[in-house]
Amino acid sequence: MSTPLTVSRALSASGLVPFEARLLLAHVVGRDRAWLAAHADETVTAEQAKIFDALARRRRDGEPVAYLLGRREFYGLDLEITPDVLIPRPETELLVDLALARLPADRETCVLDLGTGSGAVALAIAAERRKARVTGTDVSSPALALAARNAVRLGIDNVSFVASDWFDALPNERFDLIAGNPPYVAAGDPHLTEGDLRHEPQEALTPGGDGLAAIRAIVASAPAHLARGGWLLLEHGHDQADAVGSLFGDAGFADVRAARDLAGILRVSYGRI
Ligand code: GLN
Repeated sequence: MSTPLTVSRALSASGLVPFEARLLLAHVVGRDRAWLAAHADETVTAEQAKIFDALARRRRDGEPVAYLLGRREFYGLDLEITPDVLIPRPETELLVDLALARLPADRETCVLDLGTGSGAVALAIAAERRKARVTGTDVSSPALALAARNAVRLGIDNVSFVASDWFDALPNERFDLIAGNPPYVAAGDPHLTEGDLRHEPQEALTPGGDGLAAIRAIVASAPAHLARGGWLLLEHGHDQADAVGSLFGDAGFADVRAARDLAGILRVSYGRI
């Protein structure tokens, strides 16, 4: 019989950075990271050690932590995440902040989230604006099923998810606000083949070419789907604010601006029709 494995030994033997090792081990033992910190000498069962080893190996091979845990926090929501969807990014919380600033809490509003993936943006807006009716669209049926599961699990009922290629399934609907985090990485961008991005759905990351095809299509069609004075807000790449601003202008949007994320990057452009 080998000596029992302790929490601290399991963590240090994992070969992972401590933060990620703790996230994975906490998941395996069904506790949080604070519990782990306070129980460094606690014994890990052989079964738990085996599961943790397998997860640690996958992480060392590059799989994203969010896919290994099947979870990611976004805007205070604990979301189920699968490899069918992009992992929600902290910078996308800016898109939610800007949307909420344009949605009065005491009025019924209609909101659209294009390319909803896990449902992160739609669910965050719906949770913060219970009087809003939020629609999330995606072309991916596994993504839509996941988004719907997230809504049920979180008890958010003012949201619905619809299969649609951008506006295709919504021909006659108009919204007070349209938000989206479409694929915008340019084809051949080295990031696509590095780190976590390798494991994410490529169609959620890049539309090919210069990376602007999806944004062009959305901006061109959005005016016909906005109520008068309605807002369009789109996340985009670090070097796309000028190009996206011009597209907004060409499509007839007014008050066009871009906002910086916490890293100081112009990350979301918006305007009203
Ligand atoms: N922000 C993501 C990244 O560069 C890309 C997300 C997207 O294409 N919508 O990792």
